[in-house]
Amino acid sequence: MTLMPAAFIGHGNPMNALERNRYTEAWRAFGRAVPRPRAILVVSAHWYVHATAVTAMPRPRTIHDFFGFPGELFDVSYDAPGLPDLHEQVADVVSPTWVGADLDSWGIDHGAWSVLLHAFPEADIPVVQMSINALKGFDYHLQMGAALAPLREDGVLVIGSGNVVHNLGGVSRALPDAGFDWAQRFDSAARELMLTDPGAVGRLDGHRDFDLAVPTPDHFLPLLYVAGMAGATGTTADVLVDGYAYGSLSMTSYTVGMPTPDAVGGGFAAPLPDGPPPDGANI
Ligand code: ZN
Repeated sequence: MTLMPAAFIGHGNPMNALERNRYTEAWRAFGRAVPRPRAILVVSAHWYVHATAVTAMPRPRTIHDFFGFPGELFDVSYDAPGLPDLHEQVADVVSPTWVGADLDSWGIDHGAWSVLLHAFPEADIPVVQMSINALKGFDYHLQMGAALAPLREDGVLVIGSGNVVHNLGGVSRALPDAGFDWAQRFDSAARELMLTDPGAVGRLDGHRDFDLAVPTPDHFLPLLYVAGMAGATGTTADVLVDGYAYGSLSMTSYTVGMPTPDAVGGGFAAPLPDGPPPDGANI
């Protein structure tokens, strides 16, 4: 089977699920460019708990884990099947690390479906989520990513969904398409490592802007899974699309092991106008 790529997607505002802009166009192009996966394993910033687990229900529910957004966003459902058997395979590759099988607590959260609605709109590929263990340090998450690398050889598309820079307290509605200087510095430092030495992104906690860029680790940690996966195979990442939102979010997305853009029609991103920012209270 073809070696499956992997990706980190900066998902940003949940309204991206309903909008079409240059980020969502890039996610669509990504979905069209990858070989058809047997399953999609999503490490989402929004399943941040005190354990490592994967969803193992046959019909995962769509979770609307946000507030303060228009009703149409709560009407979204992403009805992809699950793949309960993938738990055993994940448990095997990450052994001796323990990974639980979640039968009824989670499902598909907006970190996953806001991206998958664009990348895989048919919702006909099984989706499994993997939780982020909030009790563990960067090394653990990098090692988990590295351990998951063999799944690429078995038709599993691993997607980390978060944001490299994610400071909700610093959001400025006056800056829908811009990034503060500190956000740009940190995002650039992450990019430098992802493009040259992905396994080293765990050292970004020493960056001068880390505390502003990563005030809580949930949205940053999915990057470590993709970085660990790239590092495990001695490869580097490519930028899928980049940019900033509301000053304090970076939208940079990365791929690992993709066909070249020329092979999928001359580039990933097509600029389209962004919609107006909502007044939502969380992103
Ligand atoms: Zn988010």
